[in-house]
Amino acid sequence: MVFKDNSTINLVGAGLAGSLMAVYLAQKGFSVNVYERRPDMRKKEAEGGRSINLALSVRGIHALTETGMDAEVMKMAIPMYGRMIHDETGDQTFQAYSRDRKSCIYSVSRAELNKSLMTRAESYDNVNFHFGKICEEMDFASGKLTLKDIESGEKLVAPGDITLACDGAFSAVRYDMQKTPRFDFSQSYLAHGYKELTIPPGPGGSFLLEKHALHIWPRGNFMMIALPNPDGSFTCTLFFPFEGKNSFANLQTKEAVQVFFDQHFSDAVPLIPDLIDDFFTNPTSSLVTIRCYPWISGQVALLGDAAHAIVPFFGQGMNAAFEDCTVLSECIDQYGPDWGKIFEVYQEKRKVNADAIADMALENFVEMRDTVADEKFLFRKKVEHLLGQNFGPYFSRYELVSFSRVPYAEAYRRGQINLEILEKLIDGLTDLDEIDYKLAGQLINERLGADFSIPGFS
Ligand code: FAD
Repeated sequence: MVFKDNSTINLVGAGLAGSLMAVYLAQKGFSVNVYERRPDMRKKEAEGGRSINLALSVRGIHALTETGMDAEVMKMAIPMYGRMIHDETGDQTFQAYSRDRKSCIYSVSRAELNKSLMTRAESYDNVNFHFGKICEEMDFASGKLTLKDIESGEKLVAPGDITLACDGAFSAVRYDMQKTPRFDFSQSYLAHGYKELTIPPGPGGSFLLEKHALHIWPRGNFMMIALPNPDGSFTCTLFFPFEGKNSFANLQTKEAVQVFFDQHFSDAVPLIPDLIDDFFTNPTSSLVTIRCYPWISGQVALLGDAAHAIVPFFGQGMNAAFEDCTVLSECIDQYGPDWGKIFEVYQEKRKVNADAIADMALENFVEMRDTVADEKFLFRKKVEHLLGQNFGPYFSRYELVSFSRVPYAEAYRRGQINLEILEKLIDGLTDLDEIDYKLAGQLINERLGADFSIPGFS
């Protein structure tokens, strides 16, 4: 639908959210200027230290489908149907993500996805990208956006009516919003940081681990994960405390790193030939949750990580950012050209859901590093799959978050009820044959409702 309003829209940040939003807006006929502080990543190698691949799931795919980007992105995406758990002895156990073992999340290259979105956005005459332009100041009273050219140092005021801040977790626009009255803001760092390591491809570009799984080495207070890349390599991420006995602070020598990996990740070590180099060369990055409110001020709104940075343990940061774009697009269609109303409804719809996924992502960290290898957790998971297979309206929280577009807050609510039902059913049991299906049916009907379904599941 081509929008009648002739507003000019400024996007700050040409990351994942900014580039996708540019495509949405271009398709509605707006004039769009995208200001990005970095050089054009299609011409220059990306900076190190940012995650190389990301898990894409239904919410993100929906946004890509709406903008006609799905086919192109899916060509470079690798489906992952479950978690492959590596225990300390090197044994591997596969845990499917869904009841039918068919639903999957996809590993995609962050850089390639970002480049594709930029190139598509730029293919519209009404979109212009301006690289090497850093946001210096946002004046909310006047709507004036001031940028600086990184090379020349020259300042420029962006002409435009509306500004969408897609400038990431450390958003400059949000920083200026923090100086306005009654702006709520919190940032909370995990005691863990992360470091990326690489498992290169095997002979002839083969995969040295199962290609269609997200690999996890859960080790209690820390863990490593690995996602596949199209060239046969895997990007591993070690999530590890900054301080303490097992910590980055304590791994200061080559010998210490080698001993630590041999002890905890023995099956991975032979697959990471540059372990020591990677460990000491790649940056150690931190993990933050950022919440703020409001997300809107005058002609300005925050989108993606700028509004809600979350920890990566549900693989939803980008998916949530893409869902912001979808919802904002719907609001524009419904309420345009009344930008006040558009922003108000966008914020109302998204804030509560961003808070829910932030909480679920933090909870999932404990599940991934700790409980995926725990007997009780595994038994509960098995019962959960059985409930899903036997009772239509029963969906696990993971399914609701990753394979449906049920609002995150509703997925969170249903997930908490699921847990209560499961705890009641497995209390004192060790054998799947002992499950009381009559009680299960009753509890599901009473607590979750008999008529809930999500598309794609029968
Ligand atoms: P960004 O992608 O950070 O883009 C912000 C852009 O703004 C950048 O291009 C930046 O250069 C630019 N910018 C910043 N400041 C300025 C300024 N002052 N002026 C102009 N431009 C500026 N999400 C998932 O869905 N699945 C995953 O599996 C997943 N894994 C992750 C793993 C890790 C280790 C991490 C850290 C994150 C992961 N995420 C994942 C989250 C995901 O990366 C983010 O949620 C997503 O990148 C947010 O997109 P964005 O466009 O809001 O921000």
